[in-house]
Amino acid sequence: MSFQGYNRLTVLLSTKLVTKELHIIQENYLRTLDRIAAAAKASGRSPEMIRLVVISKAQSVEVIKIAIQAGIKLFGENYPEEAVEKMETLGFPVDLEWHMVGHVQSRKVDLVAKHFQLLHSLDSLKLARRLDRSCGQEGKKLPVLLEFNIGGEASKNGWLANQEKKWPDLLDELVNLRDMPNLSVKGLMCMPPPADLAEISRSYFIKTRKLQDFLRTQLPDLQWTELSMGTSADYDIAVEEGATLIRVGTAILGTRTN
Ligand SMILES: *Cc1c(COP(=O)(O)O)cnc(C)c1O
Repeated sequence: MSFQGYNRLTVLLSTKLVTKELHIIQENYLRTLDRIAAAAKASGRSPEMIRLVVISKAQSVEVIKIAIQAGIKLFGENYPEEAVEKMETLGFPVDLEWHMVGHVQSRKVDLVAKHFQLLHSLDSLKLARRLDRSCGQEGKKLPVLLEFNIGGEASKNGWLANQEKKWPDLLDELVNLRDMPNLSVKGLMCMPPPADLAEISRSYFIKTRKLQDFLRTQLPDLQWTELSMGTSADYDIAVEEGATLIRVGTAILGTRTN
């Protein structure tokens, strides 16, 4: 079966020099793709609807090079400066795609506008305005996802969305996104509170999906198709609950080193 442009055989055959590290990352990658496909099938979804973003934050360029050898082309990073340094060291390969998944500080907005293909973590109107301006100067329209704080944690960024009855209050702000010509809203992102059991994340994923339905009916002229949810700990459950983008780091690249 072909998935994200690959199948196990072509990936294995395209690999010439198999080091231990490459072998491990490749096996992790293929196992993750297999599990995504299985979770999609089990819930009646097509695996082609789901993209795997490999989170390479705090991983060295050496690890990323091995990941590229393993067939990985889509990376997610948390810190714009760290990410752009890595891109530079790699020589800005044109066949790679980079997503920003972490909180973006105002002074890093230009880096995001210039070097990333999707921002998962748009978390305030202020950031949206700055980014819109920067993308305008860059002559670029940036696809963005809105980050929602679905667990109501004080430590988390994103629009507070833990109480369903307060969702209508979000609209006053979100409606302004329609007037930002250089941003293209594509959907939602969430990061549930840390939990010992992956199953605990399920209710947060379901809630995010419900919020997606709400936004679809309330702000129909924006696009709400993408759902970025699920990490190493709980991505199969996220797929079962409708994720279209999943963000997996350690389960593929191993423990973060930097
Ligand atoms: C680090 C991170 C991930 C990946 O987490 P893992 O546990 O390594 O899979 C996903 N999303 C965001 C926003 C992150 O910061």
